[in-house]
Amino acid sequence: MTIAIIGVGLIGGSLAIALKENGFASRIIGVDKSQANLDKAIRRRLIDEDLPLEQALAAADVLIVAVPVDALLYLVPQLLDGMSEHQVLIDVGSTKQAVVDAVRQHPRRGRFVAAHPMAGTEYSGPAAAVPNLFDHKCVVLVDKEDSDPDALQLAERLFISIPMRLAYLDARAHDVHAAYVSHISHISSFALALTVLAKEKDEDRIFELAGGGFSSTVRLAKSSPDMWAPIFRQNRDNVLDVLDEHIEQLSRFRSLLIKKDFETFYRLMQEANAIRRIID
Ligand code: NAP
Repeated sequence: MTIAIIGVGLIGGSLAIALKENGFASRIIGVDKSQANLDKAIRRRLIDEDLPLEQALAAADVLIVAVPVDALLYLVPQLLDGMSEHQVLIDVGSTKQAVVDAVRQHPRRGRFVAAHPMAGTEYSGPAAAVPNLFDHKCVVLVDKEDSDPDALQLAERLFISIPMRLAYLDARAHDVHAAYVSHISHISSFALALTVLAKEKDEDRIFELAGGGFSSTVRLAKSSPDMWAPIFRQNRDNVLDVLDEHIEQLSRFRSLLIKKDFETFYRLMQEANAIRRIID
């Protein structure tokens, strides 16, 4: 099967490695707005060749779009315009409502499968692509009843092959859940990095003192603003709701410290330990 990957960065490049390695794809075509990224992807053997978008569209059985979510809004309709009834288009964007809204009335809507693989790192570009990124992680397939059954089945087989677990949600529920489990932790990490950078002007000392706790909570602050700004723009309302709740929780800790109420402070930390039930 020939697969075209549009956007050969962290997610597109890692998909290319996994799908080539397991034999799901016999040929991978790369498309990207950056020729430097395509050259890097060829050097790293992530892709077999690079082609302009129109030629990739004519040659591929399956197209996977792995570009920032603002670019999905024009690329997904544009690709559907040029597709045949036998091709399948999959996106991997981190927000889903805006992209499904953009193609809701498209005559070829059925050929499109909206997906969000819940896997990633704080790095970007083809240099960041790694094998096994998706192993046993969850992929959310969104508004599955709007995809043709054969297109959905192909996308399911593709994700199972790399090997991911399937989950299904409607776009609205996906964006609410993503705000809770992914988007808020990024804002929180960006804010923590700014807090520490503002207080500690001598960056060498940050490195010197940084232990495991600091590194793991601030890790996401290294993420690319090019990828994250469009996510916050598209999921603004849900992120605002979660952020309000988060600020309230921070304020509770703050006022307990002011009141020197360490008993309640201790109890709140115990309550927070319940997260172990969900993430070990
Ligand atoms: P990335 O590493 O920055 O890769 C994106 C690639 O797409 C880059 O090579 C970029 O080129 C290229 N690109 C940007 N706009 C384009 C356009 N209009 N046409 C063609 N190529 C274009 O980003 P990523 O982390 O792989 O994210 C890709 C998608 O996956 C996003 O929608 C993101 O929301 C989603 N996602 C990300 C994660 C994560 O943890 N990173 C997890 C799940 C899903 P330039 O470098 O020149 O801009």
